[in-house]
Amino acid sequence: MTSRDNTLHKILARLQVSDGYALARTGEASESRLIGLDSNENYFADDSLIRKMAEEAARCDLRIYPCEEVIELREKLGAWLQIEPECVVLANGEDQVIDLAATVLLREGCAISISPTYSMYRLRVELLGGKLIQVPLQKDFSLDVPRLLSAADEARASTMFLCSPNNPTANQFSEASIAEVLSRYRGLLVMDEAYAEFVERSLVRMVREYSNLAVMRTFSKAFGIAGARLGYMIANPQLSKLFGEKAQLPYPISRFTARLGIECLRNLKAMQDSVSKMKQERSWLIDHLRRLEGFRVFDSETNFVLVCTGRNSSEISTKLRSLGVSVRDFGDVLDFRGCLRVTVGTRPMGEKFLDALEQVMRDE
Ligand code: PMP
Repeated sequence: MTSRDNTLHKILARLQVSDGYALARTGEASESRLIGLDSNENYFADDSLIRKMAEEAARCDLRIYPCEEVIELREKLGAWLQIEPECVVLANGEDQVIDLAATVLLREGCAISISPTYSMYRLRVELLGGKLIQVPLQKDFSLDVPRLLSAADEARASTMFLCSPNNPTANQFSEASIAEVLSRYRGLLVMDEAYAEFVERSLVRMVREYSNLAVMRTFSKAFGIAGARLGYMIANPQLSKLFGEKAQLPYPISRFTARLGIECLRNLKAMQDSVSKMKQERSWLIDHLRRLEGFRVFDSETNFVLVCTGRNSSEISTKLRSLGVSVRDFGDVLDFRGCLRVTVGTRPMGEKFLDALEQVMRDE
């Protein structure tokens, strides 16, 4: 074997042991009737309005690379979020922002995050040969700021990934804890606000004040266009310029997607209505889940609910799937045994899920 073969072999061997992102659905025909409560999509977004917006967005010359619509989308985002358009870097979904941040900041380096949290930070950091240190949340799912800061210091972590509201614990971290991190952490805090539209507070406007802050957001959740893949990063203009001009792909989003994003921002009320409807169903779902014996259902500030079953959650989720409902199994979360993450769906979806869950419990 030549040394070149050997290098390739090593690289591929590293990929082989990587977990990769476990897709909740594979797209097989057998899944076509599955109720997907596993990916936090927004079933309250108005499908007919989105189709109309998509038709409008498709009225463009796709022979030409994206240009003016990208400028317009950044302007519209800036106006909505009350920040300068230069602070916005567009991306092919928020996952691509995570990838960008990891690529720029982490080659062979060390990053810090919390546990449990969104798995992509670890996956992308490890893929690049870096290491992600994860500091456990406290029992009430709040940040352990002193431990986080000292672990970051010790590891000389260039980057900290936080997610607030956090996936899968569904809570937003307190203003005081984030302020402490921002004022004491020396590296870049990359804050994942995928679920920001479901809560009141956001760090977006703090990017001007803190040069060590970047915020990542998405159109996949509250705006309900997960299929279109549109995300963005917000940071101070210097950082955004570096990310946008030196690291981001030349054309990360299509003309069509940019125009669809603009349409979504023209119809903000539709997004807000879907958020209100989701919140009503979330209360209904939590209320019903809390009636199940032995279950602990955590409060939620997102469009999903974390449930501690106290049982083998992998078995429960497999049985639920065989009954036509897909949820995410998280296993043990901190000291909470057998946790499932369930997306808030429409009432018929929620009813089907609860019926299936009751059946699984009965057959135990
Ligand atoms: N961050 C968090 C916390 C998420 O839950 C998700 C969706 N799974 C993403 C980022 C990715 O969002 P997008 O669809 O924009 O890639």
